[in-house]
Amino acid sequence: MNKNNTSLPALGLVLLLALGCNPTSRTVVAPVAADAPARLAQQNVDAVIYQHYSAEVHRLFEQGYELAKIRLDANLERPHTLPPAVIVDIDETVLDNSPYQVTNAAMGRTYSPATWKAWTAKGSAKALPGALEFLNYATTKGCAVFYISNREIDETDATMRNLIQEGFPMVDSAHVLLMHGTSDKTIRRAEVAKNHYIALLAGDQLTDFDESFKNRSVGDGKPNVDALRDTLERYFIMLPNPMYGVWLDAVSGRPLEGKPGNKETLLKKNAY
Ligand SMILES: [Mg+2]
Repeated sequence: MNKNNTSLPALGLVLLLALGCNPTSRTVVAPVAADAPARLAQQNVDAVIYQHYSAEVHRLFEQGYELAKIRLDANLERPHTLPPAVIVDIDETVLDNSPYQVTNAAMGRTYSPATWKAWTAKGSAKALPGALEFLNYATTKGCAVFYISNREIDETDATMRNLIQEGFPMVDSAHVLLMHGTSDKTIRRAEVAKNHYIALLAGDQLTDFDESFKNRSVGDGKPNVDALRDTLERYFIMLPNPMYGVWLDAVSGRPLEGKPGNKETLLKKNAY
């Protein structure tokens, strides 16, 4: 989940501070429209419906994890000395948080840390199609399973309870690596790599594979994907999530940092 969004009232305060002014100064800061959260929520409706309701996404997850088995088998045949491991992200990779997004859309609200944590505290997210089968398969092949997620440390207990309830393997403090200060997963991946051959990774963000993909400044990041295509093909399973992510932050601004008009501006810029 995107942890970098700030609430609109907080954003207004940040802008004021950044400009070195206060509410009584003569500097004009454009007010955020009162209906902005509802408009932003409305702009995400089709993405949420697609993720939550569509048989297409259901199939995409199955397909992704079918491919994961094939890739894992091939990679386990490659020379390696350390014991093998699989790394997966959690949100929109093995657990389905689309009910949270559906609720947001229905209520005309967008992500906030408070509502997100109220959702994860329930521990009721369901396993995504194919995820459980694949990870159990990986363990039968001798792989350790590591869950590297940007959920925060105070979400640990509920997250582990949720994963255990859904039947996921190797759910313990050594294998569930949540966010310590930075959303960059590089260090956590390196920790796993110290003692394991990382045979496969899966995620709904390219940054679940490598942090370099956060940079979308050239060609919306697509040339970077093409440059690493062979590596991605072998070692990474990309899963669908149209609801939020690095890609959206990069092209239209973080949803709550920006205005609802950001997406309209983006579309107009590229319309023919
Ligand atoms: Mg994710």
